[in-house]
Amino acid sequence: AERNKDIESKNLVIEQARQELEDRAQQLSRTSMYKSEFLANMSHELRTPLNSLLILARLLAQNTEGNLTEKQVDYAEVIHSAGSDLLQLINDILDLSKVEAGKMDLRREPFHLSQLVEYLEATFGPVADERRLRFTVTLADDLPESLNSDEARIRQILRNLLSNALKFTEEGGVSLTVEHAPSTETPPTLAAAGQVLAFRVTDTGIGIPVEQLQHVFEAFQQGDGTAARRYGGTGLGLSISREVAGLLGGAIEARSVAGRGSTFTFYLPVPRPAELAAAGAASTA
Ligand code: ADP
Repeated sequence: AERNKDIESKNLVIEQARQELEDRAQQLSRTSMYKSEFLANMSHELRTPLNSLLILARLLAQNTEGNLTEKQVDYAEVIHSAGSDLLQLINDILDLSKVEAGKMDLRREPFHLSQLVEYLEATFGPVADERRLRFTVTLADDLPESLNSDEARIRQILRNLLSNALKFTEEGGVSLTVEHAPSTETPPTLAAAGQVLAFRVTDTGIGIPVEQLQHVFEAFQQGDGTAARRYGGTGLGLSISREVAGLLGGAIEARSVAGRGSTFTFYLPVPRPAELAAAGAASTA
């Protein structure tokens, strides 16, 4: 009887501790939701005045009336470019808080892979040219013609990876290849997903030291301070990209050799045509 009582009182202590932990966890998740909602609202309120500021700074910089000095035009340009950086930061924070609050909605619609590639070539070709870097896009020839996924979000991820690749590369170039992910390479979380595409962005840039590689996906994490100052950016791009990739059912992985270059691979599961047909049949049934 003595032993039973002892066990009972121990169970009581354990139960109380469990209850306390549960309450604390609930409190934390509420706080974190409030934080995300607050950030989302704030970001919205900040964007509106900033947009007016940007439009006016651009107008000033154009000096249409012709009565500004060269220096004044320079100042207007600085205001515009600092404002653009701020807008990027605000948009990034808004995106991250949306994902964290579970409020980033996806739109799955069929779109052509070739359309996505054309967009990326048109966007990044000129940037690469200007920086005298090579930029190539290669598609495997067994790819599906169209994908059923959120094209805008896929663009966002690839824009992030490609602009990083170009930003951190001084010579050589950047390549994007799209192929079916070899099954030996598919991340474990996607192993059951069936067909998985791999979008690989490879650069011959500064690379990432091993000890930093695991941290680049954390919010506000940038390479060493001097590099961050030299290259600009918010340190949010990769954490947003990884979150969004996860929402799409995919993943992003990085490999890098410091001083040699990096490869970021975005894995995207795509249903086989048969699965799509089955899903269509199920939804019309
Ligand atoms: P940002 O580029 O705005 O700083 P990201 O989240 O996109 O933020 O990247 C985080 C950090 O990861 C960068 O500051 C940089 O140190 C490192 N990084 C990302 N992509 C590359 C790359 N292709 N080559 C070298 N370093 C990279």
